[in-house]
Amino acid sequence: MAELDLTGRRALVTGGGSGIGAAVARRLGTAGAHVIVADVDGDRAAAVAAECGGEAWQVDLSDTAALASVELDVDVLVNNAGIQHVARLEEFPPDRFAFMLRLMLEAPFLLVRAALPGMYARSWGRVVNVSSAHGLRASPFKSAYVSVKHGLEGLSKVTALEGAAHGVTSNCVNPGYVRTSLVEAQIADQARVHGLPEDRVVSEILLANEAIKRLIEPGEVAEAVAYLASPAAQSVTGTNLVIDGGWSAR
Ligand code: NAD
Repeated sequence: MAELDLTGRRALVTGGGSGIGAAVARRLGTAGAHVIVADVDGDRAAAVAAECGGEAWQVDLSDTAALASVELDVDVLVNNAGIQHVARLEEFPPDRFAFMLRLMLEAPFLLVRAALPGMYARSWGRVVNVSSAHGLRASPFKSAYVSVKHGLEGLSKVTALEGAAHGVTSNCVNPGYVRTSLVEAQIADQARVHGLPEDRVVSEILLANEAIKRLIEPGEVAEAVAYLASPAAQSVTGTNLVIDGGWSAR
């Protein structure tokens, strides 16, 4: 479809080595973009980059001191890298909270900051932040995740307001539970915190409020990201594309 054509565009996808990020990298590659797959796992980044004809960038995005001076020349920035940690607030490790704040909010800020001058110079840019259904609504035992995703929503909106005069849009996608390694690890954590067997965590917690009663596939989120990255979405900015199987409809 011509309107999803990203030929000649350079796209950076963080956390592109697996899960949602890998699906996004492949989808943007299919749309014609030159994709830079950034991940702390260099082997996985290289494998995905080879699949989509792009390049790999092995980088630890929690090392925000190193990112402060990074130079980026991209037209599309997808802030996707992230982790989950499930624990009661009074037991939540402070260093884990700080790590997630760096990886999932400070790093997106520093990458946007580095990417905007080039986007402004070309009067075209797309920032897509992979937030979460938990960027808009809270759940217990996810204090760091809910906090940083809500923060990412704010960063995305400010980017939209400042970028509008320069042809730059910024939006969030808000997935519900997607079939990735992050969710598989989370099921075990939730089982421990809630004192439930893992099969009941899936049916009674993850899917309880979803209308479609199945985990979402990474490729479904990638389609939403590709739309927001495309020329077709030029008037869509400062908002959300929610892919949560009806979770937030209740
Ligand atoms: P995933 O674990 O499959 O992928 C995350 C990727 O991020 C991995 O390749 C990992 O190596 C990379 N990464 C982790 N720490 C990093 C670091 N310090 N520096 C660079 N890269 C690092 O998980 P996913 O489910 O695909 O998650 C991707 C994003 O989607 C996250 O921001 C997550 O919050 C969001 N999300 C996921 C779901 C879900 O249900 N899976 C739902 C909503 C939002």
